[in-house]
Amino acid sequence: MKTEYIVLKETILNNNCPECYSTESLTLSFKQKKLLNNFFVKTKGEVIESMNCKKCETIIFPGRWTDDIERVYDYHKKTISATPTSIKFTGLFYVMLLLSLLILATLYTYLFHQEVFMQL
Ligand SMILES: [Zn+2]
Repeated sequence: MKTEYIVLKETILNNNCPECYSTESLTLSFKQKKLLNNFFVKTKGEVIESMNCKKCETIIFPGRWTDDIERVYDYHKKTISATPTSIKFTGLFYVMLLLSLLILATLYTYLFHQEVFMQL
């Protein structure tokens, strides 16, 4: 299973970093997780938010946010429109489904005929 992220929004804030106090280094991003394998692609509905500083390379957790950061965050959060949870099947999935149905049908026919044969 492979994990990919859909970036809904990534923006650089004007606020000072609470760790190194540099400006225009805070990056706020909103992402959604996408799980992929050979059979399907699943998009998770939940939005993953993260803030990190490009300068000091620190992840800024909500506990460290200043009121200003919180305000900017709230503003950006309202502009996000997340993709709802979805699952998409790949071509291979349908091929496998068809194959297993064929096998089941063959098995069923075989068992059924054997039963008829035994009753004779
Ligand atoms: Zn910093």
